[in-house]
Amino acid sequence: MEIMSNGRGAILTLDDSRSIALDSDDPNALACVSHAHMDHLSGFGSRSAITTEETKLILSARGFRLRNHMRLGFGESTDLGSGLKVSVHPSGHMLGSAVFEVEVDGMKVLYTGDLNTEPSILHDPAWSTDAEVLVIESTYGSPVYRFKERDLVYSEIVRWIREVLRDGRIPAFNVYAAGKAQEIIALVNQSIKVPVLVSRRVGSVASVYKRTYPWLDYVVEGSRSASEVLRDGCLVYVSDRVSQFEGLRLSWAVATGWALTRSFGEFDAAFPLSSHADFAGLIDYVNSVSPRVVVTMYGHSSVFASHLRRLGRRAFSLDEIRNVRML
Ligand SMILES: [Zn+2]
Repeated sequence: MEIMSNGRGAILTLDDSRSIALDSDDPNALACVSHAHMDHLSGFGSRSAITTEETKLILSARGFRLRNHMRLGFGESTDLGSGLKVSVHPSGHMLGSAVFEVEVDGMKVLYTGDLNTEPSILHDPAWSTDAEVLVIESTYGSPVYRFKERDLVYSEIVRWIREVLRDGRIPAFNVYAAGKAQEIIALVNQSIKVPVLVSRRVGSVASVYKRTYPWLDYVVEGSRSASEVLRDGCLVYVSDRVSQFEGLRLSWAVATGWALTRSFGEFDAAFPLSSHADFAGLIDYVNSVSPRVVVTMYGHSSVFASHLRRLGRRAFSLDEIRNVRML
């Protein structure tokens, strides 16, 4: 069995030459599409793809036409014949995001996609199991990334919202349209009794989240309810881009794990709220899977692989070694 990088995700090639594209594109491979973020979508160019219903719906809401894809629910699997089986489990990163469990002749390969090992207001932590090979994302795979407890970050965000409102301004969040935006909506809904106005892109993804979380409450920019909320002037705005409303004063914040190490000086506030595991979370996840081989990809993959080697693991970064013969 081999795993190789083609610069966009990874290709797993089995001993019988069948191949599986992990968030990657290979016209001859079966693609596993882990979630609906843009940097994980190349698999939809493949002849056939596996993803979750929620990922498919979010992508449709964002205007992607999907073809020849198979939908699996969490805990479900598909038998692809000749000893190959693929199962899907939650990764805790966003709605529908999946960990793929690939079983080949009784041996397991786990591909995490993007994962979060801590619970959030919307999602349980990533699922894990024992596996011989672990292919893991390493966005925050450097020891400098240690996130505070999520509830503390939530409290800081809520405190900031209250202060901004008290100051007569509108708290506004510039966040990813899929995932982080819906988490902020949920946080405001559960903490502060003020309406949430969202941009159209955030609203189209939130409409998919509402199937799972019917209590999510927001109004979409451009609607009649949005005009009423804006007239009243007491609201939280959640958008995928920075913009202004005539006659209203906005204070802008970002919510991203990169706030730990990057300056967001052009914003009024920056909160280290991440949908990914931090360094300690990644290490814990590797230990919970207890693999014979770890392949790291995305973000700090080289740093993370070298830490794992120091801990005695057989680990390779796909950014350094383009082709790993695994077992
Ligand atoms: Zn992602």
